Amino acid sequence: MSQKQDYYKLLGITKGAQETEIKAAYRKAALKYHPDRNPGDKAAEEKFKELNEAYEVLGDSKKRQMYDQFGHAGVNGAQGGGASGFGGGGFSGFGGGFDADIFGDMFSDIFTGGSNRRTERNRGPQQGDDLQYQVNVNLSEVAFGTEKTIKINHTEKCNICNGSGAKKGSSPQTCPDCNGAGQVKFSRGFFSTVQTCPRCHGQGEVITNPCTKCSGKGTQNQAKNLKMKIPAGADTGVTLRLRGEGNAGMKGGQSGDLFVILNVINDTEFERRDANLYSQQNISFTQAAMGTEIGVPTIERKMAKMKIPAATQTETVFRLKDKGLPIMGTKRNGDQMVKVKIKVPKKFTKEQKSALITFAKTMGEEIDESRGKEGFIKKIFLK
Ligand SMILES: [Zn+2]
Ligand SMILES: [Zn+2]
Repeated sequence: MSQKQDYYKLLGITKGAQETEIKAAYRKAALKYHPDRNPGDKAAEEKFKELNEAYEVLGDSKKRQMYDQFGHAGVNGAQGGGASGFGGGGFSGFGGGFDADIFGDMFSDIFTGGSNRRTERNRGPQQGDDLQYQVNVNLSEVAFGTEKTIKINHTEKCNICNGSGAKKGSSPQTCPDCNGAGQVKFSRGFFSTVQTCPRCHGQGEVITNPCTKCSGKGTQNQAKNLKMKIPAGADTGVTLRLRGEGNAGMKGGQSGDLFVILNVINDTEFERRDANLYSQQNISFTQAAMGTEIGVPTIERKMAKMKIPAATQTETVFRLKDKGLPIMGTKRNGDQMVKVKIKVPKKFTKEQKSALITFAKTMGEEIDESRGKEGFIKKIFLK
């Protein structure tokens, strides 16, 4: 008792400190040294205990007065029982001059969320983590649906210890710190909190003789080739779930799932809009003028016949019914939209030029034939 540090010094404040100052100093220090934030740190634990003692006194005006007058001797009685007055009940035991709100915001995560939830999660079988992979597929693969093999890395149950983590012939032992409960009770000043056992991390048992293959984890990394079906008509963002192909569970827990997110690579020939495909097709001026039937490449890699009516204008869009992609979950298909472009040849022979001039004249276009003999049409004026 005589070794006790001055409460004001402990909180880093002066004797004349205001109530709010004391409170603020305590909050800051208590957070810093809280056992949940310093697992296994005995010095921090001790400091936390002292801080609580100091605040229990300085935070109460009557006790503070006694302390100011008589020092530790003046408030000794209050300290004798430690947390006895508040045992087990969490915050319900706080009384007197202590404001519950000091803990409400700052500590709520530590006391209500933190340790208890963690404790639960670690008990018993634990499901393995889900994994996520992205897989690139090309347009023709989704046009018909396909089977793809992807290479993944996940964890599997260790085949040496069968997931127990213990060396062959040994088995996990009940944790001596928590007697298998997975949690331990801490009493710090007026706090009494339940914490995840730092020794076994809530498992309730410890592996004294770990499996050499998995070092006690019970799981091992494993690369695996997985066959999966890419559904016809799937688009970027479509997610496929492969049950049980995530990471292995612990302590007999189920494996997680593997989520495969599709990314459909842009195609150079076809632009996709939902189930419709857009393509472009060059036709000659004569084809456009006279009308014809042409072959158009489709995603099926077969030519589809397409009629070009006479007097077709450039950039006219024709629809090839059902030549688009399958509409997922239906038996229907989208369409292929074909935009035709009239292509002008880059070179003409003499005969072609002369034919064009003849044609232009019949259209009533004014021709300047001054350089015609050089094979060069200087001007064509459209009326
Ligand atoms: Zn093992
Ligand atoms: Zn334990």
